[in-house]
Amino acid sequence: MSTPKPSTCQRALAATLLALAACTEEPARRPNLLLITIDTLRPDALGCYGAQVPTPALDALAERGARFTALSAASSWTLPSLATLMTGRHAATHGAVDDRHGLNEELPVLAERAAAAGYQTHGIGSHIFLGERYGLQRGFATYDDELAPRYDERRLAHRQITSPALVARAEAWLEGLEGDAPWLLWLHAFDPHNEYREHAGFTSGDEPRDLYDGEVRFTDHHLGQLFASLETRGLMDETLVVVVADHGEEFGEHGGRLHRRTLFEEVVRVPLLLAGPGVPRAEVTAPVGMVDLLPTLLDLLDLAPPDQLAGTSLRPLLGEGPATAARPVVTELEGPRPQRALRLGRWKLVGSVLEDFWFLYDLEQDPGEQTDLAALHPERVTALRHLLEEELSARGAGRTVELGAEDLEHLEALGYGGEE
Ligand SMILES: [Zn+2]
Repeated sequence: MSTPKPSTCQRALAATLLALAACTEEPARRPNLLLITIDTLRPDALGCYGAQVPTPALDALAERGARFTALSAASSWTLPSLATLMTGRHAATHGAVDDRHGLNEELPVLAERAAAAGYQTHGIGSHIFLGERYGLQRGFATYDDELAPRYDERRLAHRQITSPALVARAEAWLEGLEGDAPWLLWLHAFDPHNEYREHAGFTSGDEPRDLYDGEVRFTDHHLGQLFASLETRGLMDETLVVVVADHGEEFGEHGGRLHRRTLFEEVVRVPLLLAGPGVPRAEVTAPVGMVDLLPTLLDLLDLAPPDQLAGTSLRPLLGEGPATAARPVVTELEGPRPQRALRLGRWKLVGSVLEDFWFLYDLEQDPGEQTDLAALHPERVTALRHLLEEELSARGAGRTVELGAEDLEHLEALGYGGEE
């Protein structure tokens, strides 16, 4: 006697029961997040962005994930850019715009959102602006700023070599993890920042650019050790790895050196690599801004974004979906002569707020920003200026950081007292 076949009705009932069972299962574990910010990293110093000498660790990361080719940092120096990364707000709103101002305490930050969802959170800073006084550590359950130089160590600050210690500290923290809760680990790597140090086996040549490239390869090597350690621990498959820079570096493109002086592409265009759960292999060429990072990371961790963010999740750009309209991308630089820039598609407006003087560049035709087209397109300049004002209209107050005269003197000795 053959077994009776289930009727359509029985099949439907079984499917419903299965669906109900699926609903009552534990939700999937959220991925870990390893957020690596690298100071002063230009895309063209990485093999995956066209550098002649490879950077094996980051090139391999790019190979298995998403590489963004047109991300603009929020500013051309550390503090405002990282504050935008952590809050998803423009510098004008988060308030950490100069040496005297830290992060607005009212704004929700990445680590806080993650901790509220059960993440174990830890940060390791290696820069004077990542010390506690500026507020970037807010939301992390534990924060290690032992590598961030003190004000009285200013003479050593830019000479410190920190990548080996940074990675050792990260590994020690991972080693001590307990339980199954997902984690968020933020590391800030400092070595590519000036002064550029020589590293045997990584440096070739003694020109500033050679030394700088050597610092990047040295940093890459140590990050490679961390990635290998994550593999060994079996953590890589459940970890979203994000690598981004706070700003780039000038090597004479517009007559200057270092950073925090202009908003040209060499100081604001930065690499962005994402790899891990939820990230397909992709190359994203659309211009995007650092304000988009927080909503993107929260989206990939399946966490709700705070209200009224300046940016939006970049996740739709990773798929095959329809092309989205160009979004305006803002960069800001405070100082004695505040500057602003707005990118919209191929066009970039950059100039001085106080003097109301603006340059216009067509980045498609002129990626090096050598030919100012403002006089040829006055109507476009006016439209972009209005758009810039709109984007920045929601200004907020920063929390004043108590800096004494001696502190300011120390910052000036580091080249952070305004212009650099
Ligand atoms: Zn920096």
